Amino acid sequence: MTDSKLISATVLSPNFTADRKLNGVQYEVDTITPHCTAGSKDSTCVQVANVFSSKARQASCNYAIGGDGAICLVVHEKDRSWCSGGLTADQMKKLRGNYETGSMNDYHAITVEIASDTSGNTVNAAAIESFIALSIDIMERYGKNRAVFIYTSDNNGEAMVNYKPQPNEMKFTWHRWFAQKACPGKYIMDHMQYIIDKINEHFEKAEQVNEDQTAVTSDTTDAAENSGTSELKYKTGDLVYFIGGSQFGSANASNPAGEVKASLAKITQTYNGKHPYHCRRVNSQGEFIVGGIYGWTDEANLTT
Ligand SMILES: [Zn+2]
Repeated sequence: MTDSKLISATVLSPNFTADRKLNGVQYEVDTITPHCTAGSKDSTCVQVANVFSSKARQASCNYAIGGDGAICLVVHEKDRSWCSGGLTADQMKKLRGNYETGSMNDYHAITVEIASDTSGNTVNAAAIESFIALSIDIMERYGKNRAVFIYTSDNNGEAMVNYKPQPNEMKFTWHRWFAQKACPGKYIMDHMQYIIDKINEHFEKAEQVNEDQTAVTSDTTDAAENSGTSELKYKTGDLVYFIGGSQFGSANASNPAGEVKASLAKITQTYNGKHPYHCRRVNSQGEFIVGGIYGWTDEANLTT
């Protein structure tokens, strides 16, 4: 795969594994992992990238984003960066059981270092917006149209680390799940839902444009779709009570992405699939909050 056209600088690091190859096996990109630099949120992307120029550092990332949102290429996308490591396979096994390591994450991931302060790992809004744009660009080039990030109460990322994305999905992971680190830090963590929503809004808008174009040319298909949709008990925007249970990464996923506790929820999307309702946890005012359902689920898990 070629690199992003959104870059304005290139400072290549000598620290990478060629062609994402481990023991002769080449890994496909299906993950994006944001990191924080814990230095200064106003660093330029080249300043962030320069840190990885030394071989002794034994670390790198695919892209570095500066405080002004500019992006620097550090490791070509075709290669594995050395970014999300921390604990060995044995250490991870002791800590979390059967669990992937950060280096395995990087065989699958495009890693992005984002300029952040040490205190609270605060990041400039321009850098967050740039990370969203870069993620969309990456997903479009790899043929993905849905960002998947599932919040669970376990807080160790198990639902995401073990999640096997569908061909159209890009999953997002955090460094802290593979190492004793705060990365990506409080600020990015607090903005993660905003990031995922903005990415998915982009792709949903693109899908809507396609559907509208289809509707103009095909009234019969449109009518059939409408009658299909009307069979669903709930519609987008409905407030429901999620009784607790499995959530899925897509409407037709075979295996659950995790078990989620009960809460109020809002239907954010419907689809005539195995798990027809995309729901998100809300408070009693109907405002989205984190830490509950955020994915597709079955009608049997919903009540009013
Ligand atoms: Zn990190």
